[in-house]
This record gives sequence, structure tokens and C-alpha cells, in this order.
Amino acid sequence: MSETLNKTEKKKVVDNALNHTIMSWSKQKGLDPFAIQRAEGVYLYEFDGRKIIDFSSGLMNSNIGYGDQRVTEAVVKQMQEVSFISPACVSKVRGDLGKKLAEICPGDLNRAFFTVCGATSNENAIKLARLYTGRHKIFARYQSYHGATIGTISAGGDPRKIPVDSQQAPNFVHFDLPYSYRYEQGEENLLKESIASLERQIHYEGPNTIAAILLEGESGTSGCLKYPENYLKEVRKICDKYGILLIMDEVMSGFGRTGQWFGFQNHGIVPDMISMAKGLTCGYLPLGCVMVTEKIASKYDDTVLPLGLTYSAHAVSCAAALEVLKIYEEDNLIERAREMGKYMEEKVEELKKIHPSIGDFRNTGLLGCIEIVKSRNTKEPMAPFNAKPEEMVVMNKVAAKIKELGMYTFVKWNFVFVAPPLIVTKEQIDEGLAIISEAIKIADQAVI
Ligand code: PLP
Repeated sequence: MSETLNKTEKKKVVDNALNHTIMSWSKQKGLDPFAIQRAEGVYLYEFDGRKIIDFSSGLMNSNIGYGDQRVTEAVVKQMQEVSFISPACVSKVRGDLGKKLAEICPGDLNRAFFTVCGATSNENAIKLARLYTGRHKIFARYQSYHGATIGTISAGGDPRKIPVDSQQAPNFVHFDLPYSYRYEQGEENLLKESIASLERQIHYEGPNTIAAILLEGESGTSGCLKYPENYLKEVRKICDKYGILLIMDEVMSGFGRTGQWFGFQNHGIVPDMISMAKGLTCGYLPLGCVMVTEKIASKYDDTVLPLGLTYSAHAVSCAAALEVLKIYEEDNLIERAREMGKYMEEKVEELKKIHPSIGDFRNTGLLGCIEIVKSRNTKEPMAPFNAKPEEMVVMNKVAAKIKELGMYTFVKWNFVFVAPPLIVTKEQIDEGLAIISEAIKIADQAVI
């Protein structure tokens, strides 16, 4: 196809999508999305042949990269046998996947309830925590995201919930947890104060009313805001002291992204439930899961479990997940995420020397974000928390430059995310960081 024809084709694809579908989290007019014809490895290819490097793994879910034909084959094989059966019947892959997840998860987190995405995993984890404990409140961190359904958007603290605040679901209580870069009194004090404050808040709310504390395994889109050392261990102790369940939301931080199967494994704890999605199938098909302990599951041995979804344990999604889990192991991707995460750290450290607008870089494995500031002394962010459009002028230019130079990545407020697929090579990290380096020259000019 000639270049002109390709451009016409691309325009048709974009026009159709924009005229007849609704785009997430956006004003609908004036959008100019990448139009992707195919994807392979860490690259997306547009209809006009342009090659785009994906530095945020889609939405931090394409951990094994795009176009892995091993998954396609597993999916096709499953579809030829059976695609869908009622969740009241069982397929072979359902049990095989449950068993594999039980092997991967620590402790006696041995029982899988399959859902369809991250939000439905958290919804069901929350419902189950309430049912199991007979308590109603869920504690969660302000700086967190747990999904966009009415329940999970209420559980998170991300300001995307503010426009729909009037619809908020009840019985979610939020607590603050500052992060080291913006906390002047040192990490030890941060740990002491935040744990003391959490425990006070638990008392104010009444420990016997609290079903669960819900936390991301490692912070994601809120800015990869690291937990102070030992924070999760202290939270675990508080949960045990008051009979509160600990739910780790591993939707983004799970499946190798942080250099461990799950983010909480960087913190030496074992939760009572794990919510999963994203890297479970790496986006080849939608699937989510809540892993629960034997103790929690056994409550429903003789009592009806009032949870269910038509697509729970969808056979084809389970087949995709089973193959994806095999690929993590066969290709050593978890170890690789650790190794590439270290390389990324070294390389961003070099960027810091030439870019005065880089305030901080936080990553765990390949879940990372560069924080852009107006001044390293004052740490004033280049765009504030929940920035208004007029406060995004510089960061919008940075984002536009990244796009123009052929990269897809997530830019939010003053955060530029670096979370490529775990298969990324050192050369591809160099290639991606060169683009980011070029784009943040724009931010350097705005440094005061
Ligand atoms: N939990 C976390 C930590 C997430 O990052 C996300 C999505 O980004 C979700 C839950 C929601 O997942 P989904 O969009 O699949 O519903």
C-alpha cells in the first residue's frame, strides 16, 4: 500500500472510532489517538507504518509484550474445544489455572474466584471481606486507584472520582500516607507517624466496624509512591490486632512488574486476599481473579457464597492466563524485570545530571515514574496534584513531544511513567529514555 493510501486508511480508522465510540477519561473532541494496526514485542505499528515504542505496557498490563503467538495458539486451541460454559460447569483450564495460581501465591492463598477485570476483582474482594467479617467499612489510601466502578472508584482516592462524587458508595474511609520525597522529617518518622495516625483513625471509626484495609501491592498511577520501609509489615500487625482483613490490590503491581510475582513480596508480608487482573493475561483477553485464603474460603463450605459473574472463569481467558504464566517462567521475566529495573535506575540517574527538571525517580522493577519539578530546591511540581488544564501547559507539551517522537507512555500531572513490557532490552530502554530525555528538555526550560 502506498503511503497516501496508508494515511487515508489511518484517518478512516480514527474517524470511525471517534465518531462512533466513546473514549475513556477524555474530552471527546480534538483527540488524535495512535491508530494501531499491529503490535509486536514492545512496539506498536500504526496504519501508516509508523513504529511506536510502548513505555507503559498499554496500561501497565502488557507484561510479556505484544503479539506472542504462544498465547494465540493456546487461545485458538481452547476455542476449538470449548469457549464458554456456564460458570456452574467446570472446564479443565479453570482448575489448572486455579492450581497454578495457588502455587504462585504464598501462604494458604489457595482458592481463586475468577472475575473479568481489576475493578470486578476489587468489588468482589470488598464484598467478600464484608460478608466474611460481618463488618462494613473498608480503609484505603487517598493516593490510590482501585478501578472505575461505583464501588472501586469510591474505594480509591484518585481525584478522577470527584466528578462522580455524588454517586459515591458508602463505608469507604480514606487515610493519608505521605511519600518520602515530599516528607521532610525522614523515613523513620514517616513510618512512625503514619502508622500511629492509621491506628488512631481505626479507633475513631471503631475497629469492630472495619472489614478490611485495601492497598496496592506497590503504588501505581498515583505516582509509584513508595511505602516507607516496614510500612506493610506494621499494617499487617494492625490488621491482626483488630481482626481486619488485608487485601492487596495487585492489579497493576502483580505478575512480575515489580521484580516479584506480587508487589507485596517486596515487603515480606502475606495478605488475606489478592486482587489480580492486568498481567494475569497481559491483555490478551480480559480476566481478573481474587485469591483468598483457605480459612476465608472454608466459611462457604456449608454456606452459600453470594458472589457470581456470567464470565467468571471464562475458559478462553483462563487458557490465555495459563499460557501467560508459563511464559513468565519459561522466559525468566520476573528476574528480568528486576535486572532491567536496575538498568533503568542507572540510566535515569544519568538523565538527572543533565535535566534539572527531574526531581525524583521512583521505581520497583519496571513500575516506575519520573517526577518533574519546577525547582529541585523547593520541589514545586511542574503540574500539581489534580492539575487543572491551565496548570498542565508545560507537561502537555512534554507529553506531546513524547508522542511526536514515537512513544506511547502514560503522563499524568508531573509524572512521566516508565513501565515497559518486562521483555524490554537494554537497547530499547536506551531508545525510550532518549525520547523522554528529548521531551523533558521542554520542562528544563520552565525550571525556575
Ligand atoms: N487496581 C489498580 C491498582 C489499578 O491500577 C487498576 C487499573 O489501572 C485497577 C485496579 C482497575 O483495573 P481495571 O481497569 O481492569 O478495572
